[in-house]
Amino acid sequence: MRWELPILALRSTVIMPGTTVNVNVGRAKSRKAVEEAQAGDRRMLLLTQHDPKDEDPGKGELFEVGTLAVIKQVVRSADQTLEVLVESIERARAGDYLTLPYLRAEAETLENDATGDPQVMKVMVEECRGAFDRYVVQNKTLRLDNFHIENLRATTDPSALADQITHFATWEVPDKQSVLETLNVRARLEKVLAFLNRDLERFELDKQIAARVKEQMDQNQREYYLREQMKAIGKELGGGEDGPAEVEDLREKIEAAGMTTAVKHKALKELARLERTPGGSPEGTVIRNYLDWLLDVPWSKRSEELLDIKRTREVLDEDHYGLEEVKERILEFLAVRQLTQVMRDEAEAREEADRKAREANPADAPTAKDRPDDGELRAPILCLVGPPGVGKTSLGKSVARSLNREFVRMSLGGVRDEAEIRGHRRTYIGSMPGRIIQAMKTAGVVNPIILMDEIDKLASDWRGDPSSALLEVLDPEQNHTFQDHYLEVPYNLSRVMFITTANTLQTIPVALRDRMEVIQIPGYTLPEKLAIGREFRLKRQLRAHGLQGRLSVTNAALTRIIEEYTEEAGVRNLDRQISKMCRKAARELLEEPWDGVRNVDANDVPHYLGVPLYRPERMEKEPQIGVAQGLAWTPVGGTMLIVESLAVPGTGKVSLTGQLGDVMKESCQAAIAYLRAHAAEYGADPDFHKNLDLHVHFPDGATPKDGPSAGITIATSVISAITHRPVRMDVAMTGEITLRGRVLPIGGLKEKLLAAYQGGIRNVIIPQENEPNLQDVAEAIKSQMEIRPVATVGEVLNFVLLPATVTPPPAQPERTQTQPGA
Ligand code: ADP
Repeated sequence: MRWELPILALRSTVIMPGTTVNVNVGRAKSRKAVEEAQAGDRRMLLLTQHDPKDEDPGKGELFEVGTLAVIKQVVRSADQTLEVLVESIERARAGDYLTLPYLRAEAETLENDATGDPQVMKVMVEECRGAFDRYVVQNKTLRLDNFHIENLRATTDPSALADQITHFATWEVPDKQSVLETLNVRARLEKVLAFLNRDLERFELDKQIAARVKEQMDQNQREYYLREQMKAIGKELGGGEDGPAEVEDLREKIEAAGMTTAVKHKALKELARLERTPGGSPEGTVIRNYLDWLLDVPWSKRSEELLDIKRTREVLDEDHYGLEEVKERILEFLAVRQLTQVMRDEAEAREEADRKAREANPADAPTAKDRPDDGELRAPILCLVGPPGVGKTSLGKSVARSLNREFVRMSLGGVRDEAEIRGHRRTYIGSMPGRIIQAMKTAGVVNPIILMDEIDKLASDWRGDPSSALLEVLDPEQNHTFQDHYLEVPYNLSRVMFITTANTLQTIPVALRDRMEVIQIPGYTLPEKLAIGREFRLKRQLRAHGLQGRLSVTNAALTRIIEEYTEEAGVRNLDRQISKMCRKAARELLEEPWDGVRNVDANDVPHYLGVPLYRPERMEKEPQIGVAQGLAWTPVGGTMLIVESLAVPGTGKVSLTGQLGDVMKESCQAAIAYLRAHAAEYGADPDFHKNLDLHVHFPDGATPKDGPSAGITIATSVISAITHRPVRMDVAMTGEITLRGRVLPIGGLKEKLLAAYQGGIRNVIIPQENEPNLQDVAEAIKSQMEIRPVATVGEVLNFVLLPATVTPPPAQPERTQTQPGA
């Protein structure tokens, strides 16, 4: 059927057949169409626009297929818009349009195509119903009241069902329009079912996502809750430590610590991390520890240095007896430092300015390279070398006191790992900065004196290469950006004054030794020890024990203490023994007070200190056969070295005992070889090497011995043994021997002479070539000794060997065989 009908253009809705809907009509053209329809038989054609925003759609802008509807009611509101209630009857298509002030076209109704297997259709209908039921439940935007749902249930006609579902479904215009245009009912049902299933899948997906989101939210909430609880627990445990307050406190400290920009940046970053970590978590503890370290090491606080050579001299004299040369060297060292200090300060100020400029404008700030090299201004490191107890540490302390610097001592003995110097990375549990940074924390200022003790011990078990780390520390070129693994930020050590100590120079790696200005401190002589004991240690100890004016100690007593209770190059044990004596005296004073001053004489010493620890070896001053006295050098000072030889009839075997090193064994071979060539000169059997067995022994077998300097001592001992000529026991000797009998120079002359002197020996044979070294030996010792430089072994033997008092037994066994009764 065809009619000419007014058209109502719908913006964004498709009105399905079999439904009654309210439509708002605002556009003048549409109002006119409604009015026309009202004026006629109330029928209209409802057509949807392609584009909802189109204000004046014409033929081309409207879908062809729509519905034929009847106007039920029109309500006109104040602004002239009409509320039109229409009942949509059936599908219709617009044909030719008429040219009128409103839309009007020819329209023909469209018939449904209901062909197809009714069985299949039934199944489709059921499926659609089921799908729609689920759709209604799951579609949150769809609100259907029971009335509509019941209506739908009652709909049995497949075509009507498809249209009703489409009417209620929240589909877009193209979907609905395509259902509307599908005349074949089965195809229409399929389309509806497909749309429903598509949406159901979407809902399922949404649900899953929603579930996941919810789970995530639950998790977050749980964590938040737990964190809050942990905070509460942390507060209980930490004595009410308040998170934010702690962070604020730390922030203030960081601001006040005088850090460089880079360090401060790092500290604040860590602080931010701390803020984010839950209270009481292990990670928080790690960060807190780290921040504590950053705050504990000094960044800018410094002591005001006093550079006054006169005052330093006074302080050194106040604390130390003697050591004239050492003090002079220290003062020279400080004087040079003082003179170059001004220049160093200027250089430092320049560097600081450069750094600031670089920070402000990294591109074209001057770099260190543009500056004149001020490398020579860098002061070397002082290295005090000598046996234990000679005052190396206390000299360092005195220097610090005189300069008004803080003093920190750190021992390097046994350090074998770089990490001990540089610290462990923060990733290790319980990691800490290395010893350098620990020392800086102890010092609390950026310019302390750090005394590195036993730098020679570091080298001797040098494995993990701590010495290279140390090189960086001691190198003024590098140490302004010292890297500690724990600290992570560079630390400036350039204002620290380093002093090192060692017992011997030999085991210090060359690279380290080159950095240092070496000052040797030999051991003390008895008179020096006496003076130190009386003037420094005793006075101090008496004061410390409240015994001033109550106890007096004679020189004889002090001498006995030195000789019989200590055996050392320095005075450390002497100090201990004096302190021990004072303790005992103090106790006695409390128990049984005495009047006036109590005098301690040599005989009283055992009362205070017990049985003497060392009997001074009352040297066998009588000449001995087969024994010679040598002198040896050790890291803890010089010492006497006895060599004993025994010759018995035999076949020329030589045995050497007493823990000898290879060099010393070779030295024995050389001595014996020389004697074989010169036996006759000293009245020995030239064939002794064939018919005598020789045993050369170095007593004190527990101590390893090595070095070539015992050569002439061995020769003396051996020749005495085979000739039975006694050796003078008031002579000690040192010197290397060659096969041709020359005496070569040796090391450690100072220490050796001191040892001889302390052993009560006043005659010492030394190699001629060592004569220049005598200027290093204290006048006090030289003046009391008879020092005899020699160039050949002959000179030695002529001096120490005495004429035989008894005829030596015949060397060759076969010559002695017929001596009955002998
Ligand atoms: P080192 O570091 O060489 O092993 P110390 O510095 O520990 O020796 O010295 C040990 C003790 O001997 C310290 O109490 C020190 O004051 C004292 N001492 C060493 N030499 C002298 C000296 N020349 N005058 C006064 N006291 C001294």
